[in-house]
Formats: sequence, structure tokens, C-alpha cells
Amino acid sequence: MQVKDAIFIKSSAFLSECPDSAYPEYAFIGRSNVGKSSLINALTNRKNLAKTSGTPGKTRLINHFRINQSWNLVDLPGYGWAKVSKKDKAIFEKMIAEYITNRKNLLCVFVLIDVRHKPQQIDMEFMRWLGENGLPFSMIFTKADKLKRKGELEKALQVYKLDFLKEWESMPDYFISSAVNKMGVEEIIRYIEGINKMYHKQSNSKK
Ligand code: GDP
Repeated sequence: MQVKDAIFIKSSAFLSECPDSAYPEYAFIGRSNVGKSSLINALTNRKNLAKTSGTPGKTRLINHFRINQSWNLVDLPGYGWAKVSKKDKAIFEKMIAEYITNRKNLLCVFVLIDVRHKPQQIDMEFMRWLGENGLPFSMIFTKADKLKRKGELEKALQVYKLDFLKEWESMPDYFISSAVNKMGVEEIIRYIEGINKMYHKQSNSKK
């Protein structure tokens, strides 16, 4: 499946402001600078759908996009930006938590992780919170093109997994991506399409 159509719908500060919840929805989140905007642009075949950050942490709202007139892609604010005040941090966290825990049509949260880094406390805490609340998530390792030397990417993943599995019994579904050479892009879109199909099957059988 190719993304042919990607339109911005709206930015919302609260769950109550979010658009129509009739479409299956997928949210993307990660530390500021993880490469979220670049990946969203790569996934949607657009140069500038999501704003690549001049100022990390600038996008502070829940941004909804409609893809192929059939599903919603949600760009959530990046977390862990050091320059954000404690008060602002609390506001973002509340906004994100309210959205993720209550949005009925949200089928998967994609947690983005820079493949070059060891597990960071803030990501681990966030995923722990998702797990404790029974919220489905998958991981996307970003910037894979930056690990060029032979075996470097595999090694980084192995290190990450070892640490991750100290706390978790197994890895969630995960993808390895690059916005530069488009690695993982097709796979992620296919994965979303697969979930969409299941979603429609289930909602048809309930009718
Ligand atoms: P965001 O803050 O998470 O939205 O991150 P951005 O998409 O704005 O990217 C942050 C920085 O990382 C920018 O300088 C991007 O050009 C760079 N970047 C993002 N994705 C990739 C990637 O896949 N490969 C490489 N080499 N650089 C990337």
C-alpha cells in the first residue's frame, strides 16, 4: 500500500477537541529530536507534513492527519526536552495521558527510539506506563542509516534488547527505520494496514 493522500486535519490541546473518532488511529511519540517528524514525512511521502524541528519540543499539540481517507496518523508532542519548565512538562504529560488512555479508536502507539542510544529512563518509564495501563504499543528504532559499519546496527539492537528484557518478558513488535534511506517505511505502512483490516473485520462482525 502506498500513501497517496495525507492531509492535516487539526491540532488539539485536549482529547475533547480531537476530530472524528470513526477512523482507526495510530500515534507517534518519542523524545524530542528522535526523528519523529522526519519519519512521519517519510511514511506519508511528504516533504513537510510534520514539521521537522528547528526548535525541539516546539510542537506541543496533538496533531491529526488523515491518510488515504481511511486512517488517522497522530503526531504527539516530543517528550524529554530539557528546556521545558516543570509546569509545562506536567501539562504535556496530562494531555498525552488523557489522549492515549481515552481515545477509543487509537489502535497502536508507536514509540520511537534512536537506535544509537541505550535504553533511556524516560522511554522506559513511558513504555512501563503504557504496559501497566494495557495500552498497545510497538517500537520504531530510528536513524538506522547512521550506523554504517558492518554489524553496528545489529550490535546496537542487541544491546538495547538485553537491557529492555531485564524489565520485559518479550520485545513488542518493532521496526528499524531511516527517514534518509526509507528503511522500514513500507513495513510500517503494511503493519498499519494489517491492523486496519482486523479492525474493520471486527467492527463488521459486531454490526
Ligand atoms: P523530531 O524532533 O523527533 O521530530 O525529529 P526530527 O525529525 O526533526 O529530526 C531531528 C534531527 O535528526 C534532524 O536534524 C533530522 O534531519 C535528523 N534525522 C531525523 N531522522 C533521521 C534519519 O533517519 N537519519 C538521519 N541520518 N538523520 C535523521
